[in-house]
Amino acid sequence: MNEIDAIATILVIEDEQTIIEFLRTGLRYEGYRVEVATSGNEGLKRLRRGGVDLLILDIMLPDIDGFEVCRRLRESGHTLPIIMLTARKEITDRVRGLDTGADDYITKPFSFDELLARIRAQLRRVGHASENRVLRGADIEMNLETRTVQRAGQPVELTPTEFSLLELFLRHPRRVFTRDTLLNLVWGYHYAGETNVVDVHISHLREKLNDRPARLIRTHYGVGYAFHPEDAGSPAHREETRS
Ligand code: CA
Repeated sequence: MNEIDAIATILVIEDEQTIIEFLRTGLRYEGYRVEVATSGNEGLKRLRRGGVDLLILDIMLPDIDGFEVCRRLRESGHTLPIIMLTARKEITDRVRGLDTGADDYITKPFSFDELLARIRAQLRRVGHASENRVLRGADIEMNLETRTVQRAGQPVELTPTEFSLLELFLRHPRRVFTRDTLLNLVWGYHYAGETNVVDVHISHLREKLNDRPARLIRTHYGVGYAFHPEDAGSPAHREETRS
């Protein structure tokens, strides 16, 4: 790991295009550098060049499988964190994965949030330049360690989904997220529900943040939603300054 480089590089070894795109998009949003190898041998070749901070490794690959990649890496002395992806739920896969030297595993289908939590835990464990554990936007403060949120110093109780939505907004102020992107990032790529589930959760989130009328989390009609921290001023205050 490079001391002056706080951006972690994540290598994804996976041959399924849907999952590659899901991971690439999501991890880039989160500020990681993402590289992809679509076979075990290609991945090993990339890892030999160095500069990878964490590996996301699928088990089912077109050439050598994930277990073998993992075994070879550990054998040659690589210590980077490895999170294995498995399509199978069998406990034997998990045990085998951990036996061959993986640090963690996640079963497909998984939510992006779940994977993100594992990635952060692994990067923290190896002491990668720690990311900011408190996110702020307008008068909102989110503590990622204690999973708590305050607005203007007052605690706000959020469900895990609302928390994830708000976290995404705080990380990317002013960025317009489409409903599909939010579904992808918060609910996971496998979510096959209606996109209005997003609207319902946004509505709850606004309610809890006392964002009525919506100023912080704004609707971009026909597109999606964006967080506007600069618009936190209270409606009353706005009226006064206008008159
Ligand atoms: Ca695969």
